[in-house]
Amino acid sequence: MKKLLFILLVYATLSSCNTNKKENGKLNVVTTTTMITDLVKNIGKDSININGLMGSGVDPHLYKASEGDVTKLVNADVIFYNGLHLEGKLVEVFEKMGSSTKTPIALGEEIDKSTLIGSDYFASNYDPHVWFNIEYFKQFTKKVTAVLIEKDAKNAKYYKANETEYLAKLNTLQKTITAKIETLPKDKRILVTAHDAFNYFGKNYGFEVVGLQGLSTATEAGVKDVQNLANFIIEKQLKAVFVESSVPKRTIEALQKAVNAKGHNVQIGGTLYSDALGSAGTTEGTYIGMFEYNVNTIVNALK
Ligand SMILES: [Zn+2]
Repeated sequence: MKKLLFILLVYATLSSCNTNKKENGKLNVVTTTTMITDLVKNIGKDSININGLMGSGVDPHLYKASEGDVTKLVNADVIFYNGLHLEGKLVEVFEKMGSSTKTPIALGEEIDKSTLIGSDYFASNYDPHVWFNIEYFKQFTKKVTAVLIEKDAKNAKYYKANETEYLAKLNTLQKTITAKIETLPKDKRILVTAHDAFNYFGKNYGFEVVGLQGLSTATEAGVKDVQNLANFIIEKQLKAVFVESSVPKRTIEALQKAVNAKGHNVQIGGTLYSDALGSAGTTEGTYIGMFEYNVNTIVNALK
């Protein structure tokens, strides 16, 4: 990390002497998570160059900047990230990058803190998995649009129109998934996953949420956690637990074994997209497609 910061500072010094040459006159936007990349694509579309640092299946809690990433960050006109300490290993890089002209924008910091779920684990003191509240994602959308307009006023109307269109899609998503969840009886709304990414989802849609690992994947689940959770699953007579695309399967498989060893059959209900979207070009590779896929998977497995 020290080496990267050094490179970053050297680059930053060099680039402040050089005006930032843009290949095609478009705004260079760098994003971190796949959720934010998808959002920015929906607002900027072909009027921006976008560089998403994290790909499908990448765990943002553990992600470290490569030297290539540092080059992208230095050449960016705008940087959007989740913040609230989600990208734990990038925080130091972003803090060093702050300047009057290019301050990385933590979208999570835009949300009214009094409405966030608290957490002792993160340095931010809040659970950073805020994209699982669609209302918060709408706030992300408005902030991204405002920043793009501020940096690239000539395309203001275009960005504003894209914002209106995307917000309407998010409203439709809210209705679709609420209707789907209403088909699942309230006493069956218990979601057991690999790590605690779904607390905002649970709060909004009436699910009790239990993650085998804590809020961050940086802490491993212990044997005692597995046994306690196995007992909980049997007590609640749960039909399914879920793996996550960005977290190794082994912890949930160990849990399934522990439950089965105690004489209760619990299924793996499917793979949920928690901290990263599916592959680019697929339905689950978009925020909206991911949300629908997760809800369908959860409801169908727990029914
Ligand atoms: Zn997470």
